[in-house]
This record gives sequence, structure tokens and C-alpha cells, in this order.
Amino acid sequence: MRKPFIAGNWKMHKTVAEARALATELRDGIGNAPHRVAVAPPFTALAGVVEALEGTGIEVAAQNMAAALEGAHTGEISASMLLDLGVKLVILGHSERRHVYGESDELINTKVLLALEQGLEVILCIGETLEERESGKLKDVVVHQIDSGLRGLDEKALGRVTIAYEPVWAIGTGKTATPDDAEEAHRIVRGRIGELYSAQAAESMIIQYGGSVKPNNVKGLMAEADIDGALVGGASLKAADFIPIARFDQ
Ligand code: PEP
Repeated sequence: MRKPFIAGNWKMHKTVAEARALATELRDGIGNAPHRVAVAPPFTALAGVVEALEGTGIEVAAQNMAAALEGAHTGEISASMLLDLGVKLVILGHSERRHVYGESDELINTKVLLALEQGLEVILCIGETLEERESGKLKDVVVHQIDSGLRGLDEKALGRVTIAYEPVWAIGTGKTATPDDAEEAHRIVRGRIGELYSAQAAESMIIQYGGSVKPNNVKGLMAEADIDGALVGGASLKAADFIPIARFDQ
């Protein structure tokens, strides 16, 4: 039985004070939810949010991480710096990192391996653009991103990876994939994990859907057999939206 996992990606929003205030509202509204819940504040607010959520079941994730352990990498943040703050998880390969900041499959793979080796868990984001979907390339793109993102990873380490299927055309656009469309893609992801690893690995892989998840559509998505959670952008910025998403079945 896979445990639902709801994560909020705050992107480049919230000062330290705003982030702590939201974390406090989430602590009061979600507390020890029956599901796994995580939030990913910007780097500057990580320490404050870790402190505000201490002792709750809500985990704190980073939105990105450097592909190197330390050194001359101006503007970058390393895995050990995240671990030092009490961060346990990192989102890698988000579509904004891929498409706005030009991160390649190879770079994302390096980060995935490094994060796991250093002791972080990973949420690996994948997903097709509208053009790729409309030209019938959904399966090719998703399979390629899984193969390249997980290259060199053994099945034991895979147990610390969550995959977030996020069609690029649905991120921040208000357009959600229908539950059927999302389920089709999730089945492709799970099938590929089965081919690369084992039936057991495929069965236990947590696959989140991301792309304009809101309180009014989360239930329909979560009802699908292969949708195990959500990665939420815009609707994670307000407690009034994120709490009902995290408590989608209550
Ligand atoms: C995201 O950033 O991962 C995301 C899914 O954003 P939104 O929910 O705003 O579409």
C-alpha cells in the first residue's frame, strides 16, 4: 500500500517572516496528517521553516541543489548545507530548472546521484511540453527523462526517490491534466520503473502529479490508481488552499 505524499513548492515566494507564518498555519491545520506532507520554501527561508515545523510530521524540502559538494560555485547551495539546516528532501529537475535555467538531463542525473549519496531524499520531476504531447511524444519524453534522471542508481537508492509527473503545459497555467490523462502518464512511469528495476520497485514507487492541483480537483486526481500524491505550486502558497489538498480525503 503506497502512502499518499503531498508536497508544496513555494518557488520564489515568501520572505522569512511570511514563510514562518505560513508554516505555522500549516502546522496548526495539518499537524500530524495521515499522509506524508512536505513543503519546499526558498533557500533563505529553509532554516525558519524547519524550526517552525519541528516536531510536526511536515517535512521540509529544498527546491534545488548544486551538482558539486563544495568549491568555487558562486550562488550555489550544496547538499551538506541543506542537511546542516535539517532539510531531508530536495526537488530536482523541476520544469522551470529544465526549461528556464537550461538544466540538462545529465546535470539533473548528477544532482540526483549526489543528493542520494549525501543522504537527502529526492523528488525527481519529469514531464512533457505541450508541443511534445501534441506530436505524440509523451511516452518517449517521459521514458527518456526517467532513464536519464535515474541513470546509475541502484534499486536500494531508488527507494528514496519520489517521481513527480508534471506536464509542463499544466504548471502554473490553471490547466490541469484530466485524471485520465494523468493516469495514463503515471502508468507509463510505473511501467518504466518495472522495466528498469523490478515489479516490486514499480509497485512501491510514489508518483506525484503536478500541474495546477487545487482543492477542487485533487480528489479526482487522487482517486486514480497510479496517482499517489501531488506536487503543488500556486495552491501551496496559502494555508486555506494547501490544507484541504493535504487533507484531500477527510
Ligand atoms: C509546480 O511548480 O511544481 C506546480 C505544479 O505548479 P502549479 O501547481 O502552480 O501548477
